Amino acid sequence: MVPPPLPAIVPVTAEIRLAYVLGHFEEAYGSVPTVSIGYADTQPQIEVSATDHQFFAGTHPYPPEPNWREWAGQRLPFFFDGSPARPLLELLPDGRARVNADVVSAAFYLLSGWQEFFSAERDQHGRFPYASSVQARYGFVAVPVVNHYFDLLKTAVEHVTAQPLRARRWAGGAHWAAFITHDIDNLNSAWKAPAKAALRRGNLLDFGRQLWRHFTQKDAWDNLELVQQTVAEYGAKSTFFFLPEHRKAANGTPNADYSIRAIQPNIAALQAAGAEVQLHASIGTSIDSTQLAQAVTALARTPGTEPGLRFHYLQWEPRLTPLVVDGLAFEYDSTLGFAEHYGFRNSYCLPFQLFNFRTGQANDFLEIPLNVMDATLHHPRYLQLAPDEILPALTPMLQEIERFGGVCTVLWHNENFDPANQRNGPAQFRVLMEYLRGRNVAFVNGQDVLVRSEMMRGKK
Ligand SMILES: [Zn+2]
Repeated sequence: MVPPPLPAIVPVTAEIRLAYVLGHFEEAYGSVPTVSIGYADTQPQIEVSATDHQFFAGTHPYPPEPNWREWAGQRLPFFFDGSPARPLLELLPDGRARVNADVVSAAFYLLSGWQEFFSAERDQHGRFPYASSVQARYGFVAVPVVNHYFDLLKTAVEHVTAQPLRARRWAGGAHWAAFITHDIDNLNSAWKAPAKAALRRGNLLDFGRQLWRHFTQKDAWDNLELVQQTVAEYGAKSTFFFLPEHRKAANGTPNADYSIRAIQPNIAALQAAGAEVQLHASIGTSIDSTQLAQAVTALARTPGTEPGLRFHYLQWEPRLTPLVVDGLAFEYDSTLGFAEHYGFRNSYCLPFQLFNFRTGQANDFLEIPLNVMDATLHHPRYLQLAPDEILPALTPMLQEIERFGGVCTVLWHNENFDPANQRNGPAQFRVLMEYLRGRNVAFVNGQDVLVRSEMMRGKK
């Protein structure tokens, strides 16, 4: 698919990059003492060396290759690093510090979503492909590089102020958080795959048995209560994203296999039991506000909650979707992860605001980045991890989120709570939940993340 043409954009000056990045830095650490951070022209206390500023005057999706440098015991990519022979950080005696790589520009590049905004690469669902990302090219998708850049800035601030800076805690004093979510695409289709397989084998008896079960018994994917109870066993709360569109998209891509009206009592029951209910927006709505507005009216969200959403198939058009989401006053989105790989699409493990290239400022809505999707772990086109490989594969990423006090967003579809799925099914979900609980995570829903972020931004 081809993206829409690039819109007119505001020139991304050094001041704009600084304001956007330092805003996020301050939010990450709560109260940052007044310290000036900037480029040499303003003679700040913490001077960031300026490099290759022509890049941001252009529209190229990719910057020059990063240098790999060690920071706090870890090798990390540094984009816009013009003086690799000098130490990354110089702590100077007169209450000053110098950062010898342009971490502000590098953080801006990754956090803003620059690569996908300017790249014209899209897959068959209109998504920016993981294969086209710098994360894939340089192999750092499971490392929140922007948080590491902030750690470097934090060390500089601590030197200048002689005061320690700490990441804000989560509810109950927890160091990090997990956001457990379920996209509800299918409630009635568990019988289809085994029935088709029986037909393919020519086993009519078995086919007949599957059909009989379909017409006489509850479908194995009609399991919303089970999903909520499973999550609740870990002291966690679920956020459900429901899809009010059951007609297929024009290109044949399926939306829901259920009618939102028919399951209204089930949704009400989930809400009564404490679940958050939000919109799973159908194919095409990510570039069509009229269609998205209709979807909003079709869903009864949990009363008293701010509106949030996730797009079906993780559809996201960087040149349009942020505009559509802000235009309809959604408070949060949780679509931005790569379908093909777990990790960090914007190289950041805290909720953040995407950059609005039309205005030169941050977008209003909060992005709660998506880190782990069940389908990613085992899928013909994504990864093919064996069940016992899943947790070991995810652990380094989870450790990074814990280290930086971030939030780990997990998407586990209700259909993968079907015990018949032994690859990325309920047993594998439980292993992940046990890990999270064992590391004393705070289990949060979308509202919890939103309220905390607004507090830290001083909005409320
Ligand atoms: Zn979906």
